[in-house]
Amino acid sequence: MSKYYLLQDKKKCIGCHSCEIVCKSNKSLPVGPKLCQIITVGPKMINGLPKAAYVFMPCFHCENPWCVAACPTGAMQKRAKDGIVFVDHSLCVGCKACITACPWGAPQWNPEIGKVVKCDYCKDRIDDGLKPACVTVCTTHCLSFGLTETLPDIRRQRHAEAVAGLDA
Ligand code: SF4
Ligand code: SF4
Ligand code: SF4
Repeated sequence: MSKYYLLQDKKKCIGCHSCEIVCKSNKSLPVGPKLCQIITVGPKMINGLPKAAYVFMPCFHCENPWCVAACPTGAMQKRAKDGIVFVDHSLCVGCKACITACPWGAPQWNPEIGKVVKCDYCKDRIDDGLKPACVTVCTTHCLSFGLTETLPDIRRQRHAEAVAGLDA
């Protein structure tokens, strides 16, 4: 995992796809590649009511990334200073080895340039002190971004609130 986390609170997501749209727009991507995607699961009948969930799927910026290991040219790289995994397009030959290697379908094919594109946590924005584009526009503020070391506190707080059952 990189120095950062990008977390979705699924209970708050309404499946509006704003995150997908701004991500594509920020990277000027054509029809096809989605650096993040909202996957709709359901609807399913639960206790007599139809329920659906919207799961946000970006790149997870793995500690030992399959995509980096598979890349024969060194185009897929892990940034030394913070562990962000990104593609150097000057080295990508379009062999698609990273697309095959990633268990989560994060690397995407950009037919316009004949190369792979992927989520880089909007590293240019981060370097400018901003948050990733998807986090900035999320309609319900269900996406959060921060330092990985603070993630356990957030998960514990969320779990505690769920078990406390105080939300009306
Ligand atoms: S592209 Fe896949 S393997 Fe590579 S860092 Fe992202 S989630 Fe991990
Ligand atoms: S962090 Fe940036 S590149 Fe990654 S999914 Fe969000 S908007 Fe897209
Ligand atoms: S912008 Fe936020 S609420 Fe809308 S689909 Fe994306 S994660 Fe869900």
